[in-house]
Amino acid sequence: MSQPKKAPSLLELFPEETREAAALLKKAVPLMMKHSIPPNPVHYALWYSYSKGLDAELNRRLDKTVQDFDCFPPETAVKLFRDFIIHGELEEARAGQQQVIDLVDDIEGDVSRSIIGSRHYQTSLEQGLAALHEPIIEDLPAVLNELQHSTQVIQDQQDKFLYRLQAAQEEIKCLRNQLERAHMAATLDSLTKVFNRNAFTRLLEQILHDNPQGVALLMLDIDHFKQFNDQYGHPLGDRVLQHVGSLLRDLLPPQAIAARYGGEEFCVILRDCSNPDNVHAFAEKLRLKIHALRIKVRRTDEVLDSISASFGYALAQAGDDFESLLTRADDALYQAKRNGRNTVHPAPETSLASA
Ligand code: GH3
Ligand code: MG
Ligand code: MG
Repeated sequence: MSQPKKAPSLLELFPEETREAAALLKKAVPLMMKHSIPPNPVHYALWYSYSKGLDAELNRRLDKTVQDFDCFPPETAVKLFRDFIIHGELEEARAGQQQVIDLVDDIEGDVSRSIIGSRHYQTSLEQGLAALHEPIIEDLPAVLNELQHSTQVIQDQQDKFLYRLQAAQEEIKCLRNQLERAHMAATLDSLTKVFNRNAFTRLLEQILHDNPQGVALLMLDIDHFKQFNDQYGHPLGDRVLQHVGSLLRDLLPPQAIAARYGGEEFCVILRDCSNPDNVHAFAEKLRLKIHALRIKVRRTDEVLDSISASFGYALAQAGDDFESLLTRADDALYQAKRNGRNTVHPAPETSLASA
């Protein structure tokens, strides 16, 4: 039976680059030790780039920092890392991190293999020495001893290097998790776990810029929420918001995006949705689910059964930008409020769009 073919490693694909990376890491670590810089992923990344000479300005700033300070100030390290390594781009940084992890994996594999190689070599040297009862030439045992010693030194160095690589790999994984969490915090609303306003704005702008065809924007606002907060307190208000967030996440069609636009207002971007009847039906479904929410007041065991929300929606038209589409959906929402709340209202042009 044929074995499944293993994908070639980075080392196999790019042997020179991977070796160069290993050599650079070897250069970076002593530099960090020289300046008593603690080994963490940010420092590794900075001194790795330094050794590689990627950016003359970064090298100048690092040289100056180690000259001016006895220690390496963490805030300077973070600033340099942001400015020169991730350039404020989390997405790119995440992709970069993955590459570094792959690279370190490959280097580690390479070093492990060479350690096994030198252990074999050392074992055969030891066996060779043991087999020499009678010296064939006078100084052969000394030469073999010397060889065995140098093999041991190389092996020790490789062991240390491997250990450092493993530590760096762990730290890089931690850093990736931290970046992952920072990315979530930067895009998600912490209370409701749907996208936050910033992420929503960026996404809708991008979607309208790419292709407004079939895009619909739905806005919803919880009714009389202020009264609700006043009567039952903010923590219960927060629980209502969490329930609405969770309903939105559960009911979203594929490719749709839900966001908390502000206080008790949410937005949903629908895609592939040129038929206003479908948008209306989705809004109705949400409206009914929200109205069916039953939330227990823990202090009194009272069950709340009067939560409702009003909805407005608009379909994107050619030439729409973020502001024009949002304004039409918001106007429709205002109409829904005027019509008595707990209802869905389309933007005026929406029926024309389907004609
Ligand atoms: P309407 O039906 O016209 O929308 O009335 P409303 O009371 O819902 O609207 P209004 O804009 O007067 O009040 C919104 C309230 O939402 C006021 C504010 O205290 C509350 N709110 C905003 N953000 C939060 C939050 O994060 N948690 C809680 N509990 N309340 C919030
Ligand atoms: Mg509001
Ligand atoms: Mg409201």
